[in-house]
Amino acid sequence: MYQDFQKHLSQQIADIKSAGLYKDERLICSPQGADILVKGQHVLNFCANNYLGLANHPALINAAKKALDERGYGMSSVRFICGTQDRHKELEAAIAKFFGTEDTILYAACFDANGGVFEPLLTEEDAIISDSLNHASIIDGVRLCKAKRFRYANADMEDLEKQLIAAKDCRFRLIATDGVFSMDGNVCPLDKIYELANKYNAMVMVDESHSAGVVGKTGRGVTEQYNLRGKIEILTGTLGKAFGGAVGGFTTGKKEIIDILRQRSRPYLFSNSLPPMVVAAGIEMFAMMDRTNELQDKLHANTKYFVDKMVAAGFDCKPTQSAICAVMLYDAKLSQVMAARLQEEGIYVTGFYYPVVPQGQARIRVQLSAAHETEHLDKCIAAFTKIGKELGVLK
Ligand SMILES: *Cc1c(COP(=O)(O)O)cnc(C)c1O
Repeated sequence: MYQDFQKHLSQQIADIKSAGLYKDERLICSPQGADILVKGQHVLNFCANNYLGLANHPALINAAKKALDERGYGMSSVRFICGTQDRHKELEAAIAKFFGTEDTILYAACFDANGGVFEPLLTEEDAIISDSLNHASIIDGVRLCKAKRFRYANADMEDLEKQLIAAKDCRFRLIATDGVFSMDGNVCPLDKIYELANKYNAMVMVDESHSAGVVGKTGRGVTEQYNLRGKIEILTGTLGKAFGGAVGGFTTGKKEIIDILRQRSRPYLFSNSLPPMVVAAGIEMFAMMDRTNELQDKLHANTKYFVDKMVAAGFDCKPTQSAICAVMLYDAKLSQVMAARLQEEGIYVTGFYYPVVPQGQARIRVQLSAAHETEHLDKCIAAFTKIGKELGVLK
C-alpha cells in the first residue's frame, strides 16, 4: 500500500528541492543566545525571536528548576479535568495585568490560541475581516470558523473600510490583524483600525506575537504604542518569542470572551496543560518586567543603533517600528548567497524570498535582541558592509 504513496511523496520532495525551496535545519549545539555554536562554529545570532534575551536568562532558568522540584515535570491532564494548578491562574492574571486586559486563557502555543479563538465565538451570521499578511495560524483559525471571510490588503485602511462596508449586514464583525508583520517589521495601524471598528461597529483581534515585549515604550505591545490599553476585545500572543522563548500561547481580553473560550475552545479543552516549569518561568518573567524596563530599553536602543548605522552604510532597510530590520536585496539568489557569506563571517541571518515574501522583494531579515552588546552589533554591521561591497550591493 505504501509504495505508491512513497513515490508520490518522493516526487514532491524532489520538486521542492529542485525549486530551491527545501528547508534544511542548521544544528545549534549551545543554548539560545547572542553567541551560538553552529556546526562547531561560533556565530552571532541575528535570526532568533529572542527579542528580550530571555531564552537563556538565569532568573527564568532558576524559576523553572525550582518549579520542577516543587511541582513536578508535567500535568498529564487538560486544564478542566485535573490540569490546573494555582500557578496557571497566577500566570493568566500576570498576562492580563501586563496588557491591561480583563482575563487570560493559556494554550500550548499561540498557534493553538489562534486556532481556537474564532470558531467558538462566531457563526455563519458573522464576519471576520482579515489582513492579507496575517500569520498562518490566524488563517487556519479563520478556516475553522463558519463566519464569512473578508480580506484587506496589508495595513490598507481604505481597503479595510471597503470590506467593513461589504460586511455591514452581518450580525457581528471582527477585524483580525498581526500586531507586527514579521517580514517587514511594520506595526499594524491600530489607531486607524480602532477608529474604523468604531465607525462600522466591529470588534478587533490583534496577534501580539512579534510585538509583545517589543513595541511600545515599556514593551506592552501595540495597545501601548497607540494608547489603546484595555480597548481591544481580543489579544493573542506567544511565550515562545520575547517572553522566554520556550512554549506557550495565550488569548487575553474581555472577560466574557475568555469565559466562553474556556468552555468551547477546542485546542484548550482537548490539549494538555502547560508544564509547571514553563508556567513558573513565565510568572518570574512578568514579575521582572513589572520591576524594570531595562531589557526593553536595551532592545530599543540596539534596534535604533543598528538600523541607523546600516542606513548610513548605504543599505536599503525597510522602515521598522519593531525589532525586525528587513535589509532589502530584491534578488532571491543574492539573498541566499549573501546570507551564506555572512555566516562564513560569523553572522547568522536568514535570507527570505518568494513565496515567503512577494516576488522581487527578497531580503535578509535581521532580528535585534536585548542579548546583543554593542560589539555584536558593530561586528554584524562590519560584516554586512564587507560582504555588501564584495557582492556589489554597496557601491
Ligand atoms: C510565532 C507566531 C505565532 C505562533 O506562536 P507559537 O506560540 O510558536 O505557536 C502565531 N502568530 C504570530 C503572528 C507569530 O509570529
